[in-house]
Amino acid sequence: MAATLASFKIPTITNEPMGNYPAGSAERKGLEAALAEMKASMPFEVPCVVDGKPVKTGVLLPQLTPHSHSTAPLCNYHSATPEVVASAIESSLKAQKEWENMPWNDRAAIFLKAADLTAGKYRYKLMAATMLGQGKNTWQAEIDAAAEMADFFRFSVKFVEQLYTQQPSENSPGVWNRTEFRPLEGFVLAVTPFNFTAIGGNLVGAPAIVGNVVLWKPSPMATYANYLTHKILLEAGVPPSVIQFIPGPAPEVVKQCIDHKAFAGLHFTGSTAVFKGLWKQISQNVDLYRSYPRIVGETGGKNFHMIHKSADIRETVLQSIRSGFEYSGQKCSALGRIYVAKSLWDAGWGDVMKEEVERIKVGSCEDWTNFLGPVINQASFDKITGLIAKAKAEGGEILVGGNSDSSVGYFVDPTVIVTKDPKSVTMVNEIFGPVLTVFVYEDDDFEKTCELIDETTDYALTGSVFANDRSAVVLAQQKLRNAAGNFYINDKCTGAVVGQQPFGGARGSGTNDKSGSISIFYRFVSARSIKESFVGPSDFLYPSNFQ
Ligand code: NAD
Repeated sequence: MAATLASFKIPTITNEPMGNYPAGSAERKGLEAALAEMKASMPFEVPCVVDGKPVKTGVLLPQLTPHSHSTAPLCNYHSATPEVVASAIESSLKAQKEWENMPWNDRAAIFLKAADLTAGKYRYKLMAATMLGQGKNTWQAEIDAAAEMADFFRFSVKFVEQLYTQQPSENSPGVWNRTEFRPLEGFVLAVTPFNFTAIGGNLVGAPAIVGNVVLWKPSPMATYANYLTHKILLEAGVPPSVIQFIPGPAPEVVKQCIDHKAFAGLHFTGSTAVFKGLWKQISQNVDLYRSYPRIVGETGGKNFHMIHKSADIRETVLQSIRSGFEYSGQKCSALGRIYVAKSLWDAGWGDVMKEEVERIKVGSCEDWTNFLGPVINQASFDKITGLIAKAKAEGGEILVGGNSDSSVGYFVDPTVIVTKDPKSVTMVNEIFGPVLTVFVYEDDDFEKTCELIDETTDYALTGSVFANDRSAVVLAQQKLRNAAGNFYINDKCTGAVVGQQPFGGARGSGTNDKSGSISIFYRFVSARSIKESFVGPSDFLYPSNFQ
């Protein structure tokens, strides 16, 4: 049995510093070299990884590069068959006890090492994979694949350390009360999205660090960056069978896992419709499972900026451009709808917006000057362009943008629509593309417009109020309390940082279990209360039983 002969203190945890990649810098040269090397070797062959060993099923599917149809796929991955999924489940269950029994400080050390590998040895490679495969520009890749992923791994150690110190505060004489945080009995299934490499790492890392075994079904559009992440975790010391990597046909792979008796939890990030479908499937199986599975899902958003008449025009335009158009609007937190006070609009808010948006350069992530890249694939391109067309048909006026071109890659121009109908199609639906819709409200209708924001969509992920008048801030905070799980005051509605703004929304946006905080870890443990008595009773009768 492994003995831990001290109560170790973890190192101080802080957010990973981000590089700026100025021209001529060592970091820019490092990234350029990684991009060139990756391009020279594409397409990579990605196997399933079961028990730490590559499994090649021969059923190959490509992960394409969204900015250039003429470029080779980033990778071709072996799609998991039912036999591969079954063997991944069985061997993960066999690995469970040993992983659960590994001393906490050793599990912590593995994740701290994974963070250092992410931020150091693999930084540029992960970024290059995220740029070429998911279409991010340098800054977006840096904040995601390098900084946020390292933060997730490091802060997980900090939060689990805090979790383990949560102990009963009271002990009667002769008694010691304790709580231990057991991993779930069975395996956790992580189903991860395309748009953040770091989310892939966190959806498997968070359950694993508290002792769970995990099956990882990555997104087909992020397979290579996710495969590299899995490699990092193995290199850092996660035992080979603890996290199994099984890319493949989503509905089938996921159903096979959910239909297994030992399915103990789902850690999902993706669209609301898929999550609701999985919740229904899980509920159908309630009699099959040994325990009630934990269902954790962070899903879509229709995020807002509420701009009061006392706000600054240029500042709110710039914040809206960043939160609406960075990574082509493909963030769950991306801005979708803007409410502008009429006096600001009359003072030229729309003109400033048009002028600034016209400065945005759209194109390949390989050109450093491009602010906006491609959208992820043909389906996404068709959905976004279809919604722009529908908004126009409904009477929306295109203030700027509106054009798209899929001849070279999947490019949609940053588009701002002005609508008179606050419930028009692009005010209500998640677009996941570079499209903002503006509704201009009467200055005196600030409170009424807060109520409108609250009831316009099924989502409640992120939102901001911009005002220099404090009473407007106070009112918006109250009126919009349930309209966003992450609420910002005079700041854009994107850019949550691990350990600083725990992330997640309620209503249709998810279970709001707050990744980047201690809360998420409670979902992947099942506490056991332990009472130990040092002195036994001298009689079964109590004093009250005597005359
Ligand atoms: P998606 O729902 O298409 O896919 C997510 C995952 O589910 C992928 O692994 C996919 O292969 C799998 N999947 C798809 N269909 C499935 C099915 N029928 N059965 C089982 N699994 C299935 O989402 P996406 O396009 O990868 O990501 C974009 C969505 O994710 C947006 O809606 C965005 O708002 C949301 N998102 C939310 C957060 C958050 O924290 N709230 C963060 C990132 C992304």
